[in-house]
Amino acid sequence: MLKIGLTGGIGSGKSTAAALFAQRGACVIDADLIARELVTPGSPALKALVKAFGSQILLPDGRLDRSQLRQRIFSDPEAKRILEAILHPLIFAEMQRRAELCQTPYCILVIPLLVESKAQNQVDRVLVVDCPQALQIERVKQRDRIPEEQILNILASQATRQQRLNAADEVILNAGTLTELEKQVEELHRFYARLSSGCDCPRPL
Ligand code: ADP
Repeated sequence: MLKIGLTGGIGSGKSTAAALFAQRGACVIDADLIARELVTPGSPALKALVKAFGSQILLPDGRLDRSQLRQRIFSDPEAKRILEAILHPLIFAEMQRRAELCQTPYCILVIPLLVESKAQNQVDRVLVVDCPQALQIERVKQRDRIPEEQILNILASQATRQQRLNAADEVILNAGTLTELEKQVEELHRFYARLSSGCDCPRPL
């Protein structure tokens, strides 16, 4: 199974691009969704988190209090390291398991923090969705209705545009219309389908 790691900064258009690949029949596996599924009440992952951080990370109904945990790791790098050491191996194992079940020529693994977590070895190719930072800010403001300061904090905690581009095998420049995005996805879809059949084909420009 050819595994394409799709990544990009917040608001770059990862989810939109992933949906366009899915429309073309690609199997799409999302790290964020798996991360949520892994920490349901009673799960081994949630038990490990409670052991590491205490039961104060739980809501009264026993579910994980995400905003509390997010705040905690935001101000404490060691807590962030521990959280990632618990969750990342479980997330990657589950992604690989699901990838092997896919019946499609290639699959898209959406991994927002692929570069930050040095997870390039989890995939065969890295596809970066790229756009200027000002556009990321605009899109996230529109989508999430959160203050610009909060968006800037998130951007500062992520890899830079250049770091991501350095890790890329392919790049989608999502700075134009949705039609332009779709055209690039279509070209890459054909390219990945050909690659998966063993073709040593040139990359789309
Ligand atoms: P990400 O998953 O990388 O955070 P999204 O795919 O959710 O980003 O895109 C962020 C927002 O920008 C969404 O509301 C999406 O509909 C919008 N968007 C993405 N690409 C484009 C585009 N090319 N033109 C217009 N809006 C876009």
